[in-house]
Amino acid sequence: HARRLEGIDKNIWVEFTQLAADYKAVNLGQGFPDFSPPAFIQEAFCKAVGGGCTMHQYTRAFGHPPLVKILAKFFGRVLGRDIDPWEDILVTVGAYEALFCSFQALIDEGDEVIIIEPFFDCYQPMVKMAGGTAVYVPLRPRSGSGMALSSADWILSPEELEGKFTPRTKAIVINTPNNPLGKVFQKEELQVIADLCVKHDVVCISDEVYEWLTYDGAKHVKIGENCCCWRIFLNKIPSVPLDGRLVGWAVGPRRVMTHLKTVHQNSIYHSATAAQEAVAVGFQREYDCFGTKESYLKQLPEMLHHKRLRLAQCLQSVGLQPILPQGGYFMIADISSLKVDFNDPSAQDEPYDYRFVKWLIKEKGLATIPVSAFYSPEHQKDFQNYIRFCFVKENATLNAAEEILKQWN
Ligand code: GLN
Repeated sequence: HARRLEGIDKNIWVEFTQLAADYKAVNLGQGFPDFSPPAFIQEAFCKAVGGGCTMHQYTRAFGHPPLVKILAKFFGRVLGRDIDPWEDILVTVGAYEALFCSFQALIDEGDEVIIIEPFFDCYQPMVKMAGGTAVYVPLRPRSGSGMALSSADWILSPEELEGKFTPRTKAIVINTPNNPLGKVFQKEELQVIADLCVKHDVVCISDEVYEWLTYDGAKHVKIGENCCCWRIFLNKIPSVPLDGRLVGWAVGPRRVMTHLKTVHQNSIYHSATAAQEAVAVGFQREYDCFGTKESYLKQLPEMLHHKRLRLAQCLQSVGLQPILPQGGYFMIADISSLKVDFNDPSAQDEPYDYRFVKWLIKEKGLATIPVSAFYSPEHQKDFQNYIRFCFVKENATLNAAEEILKQWN
């Protein structure tokens, strides 16, 4: 095998999703909704599939024309500037491919990429496959004010961040709202990052896949609104299983996007035409009803807000301290108050949270994700006391999880 694959053969989604299936566990692990996408998306997809032969053929490699046009209009309005549908956008297979193209397009052997911990796990292997080195900077729970009970209490030290920039730094990845913590970065925090990017001529890759999911007045802000830092925004429609997983995109300056397109045209080439058509129809609808109560991007966070409070209450009632997320659809909780005897000498070298989650799946039938999976090997040992719950689930699924949690106390 190629050297670039060394050390990245394990994948938590593959491992824990299989385990959850094997034990038929109630699944609050992998982040996917267990309910159907909204009717308008299902209808648009059915119509596209039945829409004649062009929908079953290749479309434009860098994005189906109706989709890039509406994305340019939609995000042009969000960003308050003109976006060229033909030059500034690349449609990808989910946000995964947008990330992959970004790293392959920008990172050379020996380059460094700054990643903020905890981070969505695929950033590190993707940086490695591009020949780069990941350099980590942690969000730390605010000290002094007792327990950090909200994701807002986890902060980045500007000095520590600045110390990570070197002449080899090529890019920094940010993820807001963050997975797994749910932190929504504030304008001031983003300004610090943007200023450092300008100073060191570094590109910011901004993973915003949960952009529309914010709670309690937290506001999603896009980095570098008023400065000239290089930014690539990655996105998808959240929680639309059909499309969120098939169709993602990157938006950025054409000088950078042209290189992402080179990677795309020589690897994936293009994503399914009918799915792109359905997303285009969905976005047109969202464009037309933006900000009204008809908007799915408004309805979804309202629905999730209730599920989030409910899960938090449930965890608290069984003595698991949750950190309330400001955004996204994950919640992490501290498990250190639970003393469990795993009785499994074979797995002693695994982090505590991995062993805990395996025990929870096998013995209690509830699947979650260990949070140390979102840390670098160097810092994993400091964060073994949290597990991640996903709440983009049917109420029946949340009820079943609650039953399990209540019973074991
Ligand atoms: N993004 C999702 C999560 O964090 C799932 C990722 C995956 O399954 N590969 O749970």
